[in-house]
Amino acid sequence: MPIPKWKIKGIVDDITECGCCGRRGLKRTVALMPLDADGNEDGTAEDVVYYGTSCAATALSWTQGKVTDTARGPGRAGPARRLRPPDDQHLRPG
Ligand SMILES: [Zn+2]
Repeated sequence: MPIPKWKIKGIVDDITECGCCGRRGLKRTVALMPLDADGNEDGTAEDVVYYGTSCAATALSWTQGKVTDTARGPGRAGPARRLRPPDDQHLRPG
């Protein structure tokens, strides 16, 4: 899977202009932090961009619903689930 280029920092309603397409009058925008090739945050608070939810969804290749869910809070469907099934099931015969 490709590493997303952005990390959702939150959702704001005091910025109503999309930093992607410039559309204004949005109800809310999503704060996005740029990531480097390794998926680490590649910037400071000044580098955060504010995209409308549809543009944020496009940028992340996510659905709009997932974007808003994630942006609203890490409570339920946090993006940082890295649970892997146990790997050490090497059953040896005998
Ligand atoms: Zn936009």
